[in-house]
Amino acid sequence: MLYAAMCLLKLFLAEGVASYERYRLLKLYAEDQEMVNEIENLLSLPTFSELDVWNGPRPGRMNGTVSVPPTLYPALKKQLVARDIPFTVAVHSLKDLLDAAVLQSGSARRRTLPQGFISFDRYLTYQQIEDYLLTLSKRCSICYLTHIGRSFEGRNIYMIRIGRESKLAQDGIWIDAGIHAREWASISTALYIIHQFYELHESEEWVQTMLSSYDFYIVPLVNPDGYEFTRTTDRMWRKSRSHTGWDDGQSCIGVDLNRNFDYYFGGRGSSNNPCSNFYTGPSAFSEPETRVLASQIEKVRQRLRVYLALHTYGQLWIIPYGHTYRRPADYLDMVRLANATCVAQSSVFNKSYIPVSSYEFYLAAGTAKDWAKGAMGIKYSYTLELRDLGDYHFLMPPSEIEDTGMEMWSSLSALVEYMRDLKDG
Ligand SMILES: [Zn+2]
Repeated sequence: MLYAAMCLLKLFLAEGVASYERYRLLKLYAEDQEMVNEIENLLSLPTFSELDVWNGPRPGRMNGTVSVPPTLYPALKKQLVARDIPFTVAVHSLKDLLDAAVLQSGSARRRTLPQGFISFDRYLTYQQIEDYLLTLSKRCSICYLTHIGRSFEGRNIYMIRIGRESKLAQDGIWIDAGIHAREWASISTALYIIHQFYELHESEEWVQTMLSSYDFYIVPLVNPDGYEFTRTTDRMWRKSRSHTGWDDGQSCIGVDLNRNFDYYFGGRGSSNNPCSNFYTGPSAFSEPETRVLASQIEKVRQRLRVYLALHTYGQLWIIPYGHTYRRPADYLDMVRLANATCVAQSSVFNKSYIPVSSYEFYLAAGTAKDWAKGAMGIKYSYTLELRDLGDYHFLMPPSEIEDTGMEMWSSLSALVEYMRDLKDG
C-alpha cells in the first residue's frame, strides 16, 4: 500500500505519545524568489510528500523550516546538496524541543483554573475553552454564543458574536482560529480578543466605538479534535482526525482543513496523498469542520466586510490568492488595509508584521481565505500568521500568549478605524 509508509516513520513511546526522537529540524535558506521556487519544487516531489514543512522561506526575513524523519534525511540531504540549496540542521532531535516546551509550560499547569474561568498564562484544554465560552455567554451582555456544529469526533464547535444588538443589524468582521491543530497561539489569541471585548466594553469608549460600527463573529477553535490530539498524543499534528483518507484501513488519518474549501480545490500547494500534511481530502467540504464554518459564513456573508483566519507562525498578513501567481484586481486595496494593521501590530512590542501575497509565501489551493474572497465575495480576506519568526515555531511558550494577544487586539482596533474611515469616505 503506497501510503502505509507513514506508519513506519512516526516513533511512538510506550504510552502512545509521538516522541520525534532523531527527527531533524532543517533550516533552508533562500536569497531570492528563484531559490524559494527551487525549494518549493524540491519539497513537492512525491518522494518528499510526507515531509512536514513548517514554513517556506522568506528572503531577508525568515528561513524555511522542515521537520525530517530519520528515514528521509539521507535522500533530502542529497537533493539539497545537488541543487545548491544552503541548509543547516538546527535541531538534531525534535524530541529535545518538545521536552523543553513541556518544561516551560509546567508551572502554570500545576495551578488549577476554576471552571469557566480563563487565564492567559497557559494553553487551555478543549473542555476549559468550552466551559469559558458557556460561562461567558451568561455573564456578558454583548456576547451571543451559537453552537454551530460538531467535529468528526463529535466535539462542539462554537461561534461567539460580539455585538451591541441582539439582532443582526451591523456589518461584520469574521475571525476564526485553530483550523490547524498545532497552532495553539492562534486559539489563545482568538480567546484573548473575546475576553478583551468582555472586559473593556463598558469602561472604554474606543471599544464602544468599535462596537458601534461592527459585530465581531469569532470561532476560536475550528478543529477541536486535532487540538485535543496535539495535547494528548502528537504535539505536531496539523490536520483534522477524520478517516476520509483511509484506503482499506491502511492509510492515514486527517485532512488539512485549510485545503478543503471549495475554491480551486485540489490545486497547487495541496496534496491528494492522505498521509501528507497538506492532504486536501477526497472532495471539497468533505469534512464536517469546514462545512460547519462555511455554512455559518454563508449565512452572514452579506454583512461580512473582513475575513481573518488566525494561524501561526511568521508574523504575516497573507493576501489572496494562493492557487495562482495572478493577483486579484483589488490587490492594492488589500495591501493598504494590511499596511495599517501591520503598523499597529508591530508597534506594540516592536515585532515586525508585514503584508505578503499568498503565492510569495507558498502556493496553497483550497484555503479558507481564498474561498472567503473568491466564492463569498468578502473583499478583505486574509490569513494571519501570528508570532514568531521561527525561534519557537509552533511551540510558543505560554509567557508570550498575552503579548501576542495584545498585538492582535491593537491590530484589530486599527483595522476597525481603517474600515470606518473608508466608510466615511
Ligand atoms: Zn496554519
